Amino acid sequence: MYEDLKKKIVEVMKYMEERGLNYGRSGNASIRVEENHVLITPSGVVKSEMSPDDILVVSIDGDIIEGERNPTVEMPLHLAIYRSYRHIGAVIHAHALYTSVLAVTREPLPPVTEEMIMYTGGEVRVADYAPFGSEELAENAVKALENRAAVILANHGVVACGRSIDEALEVLTVVERSAQIYVLAKLMGRVHSLPEEVVEFQKKLFLKRFSKPS
Ligand SMILES: [Zn+2]
Repeated sequence: MYEDLKKKIVEVMKYMEERGLNYGRSGNASIRVEENHVLITPSGVVKSEMSPDDILVVSIDGDIIEGERNPTVEMPLHLAIYRSYRHIGAVIHAHALYTSVLAVTREPLPPVTEEMIMYTGGEVRVADYAPFGSEELAENAVKALENRAAVILANHGVVACGRSIDEALEVLTVVERSAQIYVLAKLMGRVHSLPEEVVEFQKKLFLKRFSKPS
């Protein structure tokens, strides 16, 4: 089932490894398909070496429909996002370097460029800490994701969402690049904010676009 979308997830995980957005066995991705089924990456495999057969099909409540492997331990996080936000069709979780710096300092990523607001909806919040794989982490992430396309997980990594997996990947790329810009700008000692009216304008545009299916 869903052979093309499984291939797409495999390609995305490879791309993330090549671009330094994720590495090794870390990170996971999912796509929501019809009837509230979800395609999701397995646990414990090197993500850039996966094959489409490794991808599982699960129900939105977590029952395995197809697949031999165990689903990622972060399955509760993915499913809680789909249950809470109907417009979200794909979720990517990664241990990207600069966003992880902010995860460890537990510092939200402010809207440093207009491009960033277009993709994320504004400041990327840090969800309260909870252990990886827990329902509590899923709840905290859902809360911090309101009106945004991304969230930082305290002392852990980042989650990027989109109406499609391509959009989720774009969001992840922009968040990691923005985190890099922000961290480097802070090291230089000066971070100037965008005018408030520009931030509000871009936020409105984002919500208009993002709350509709692509
Ligand atoms: Zn993780």
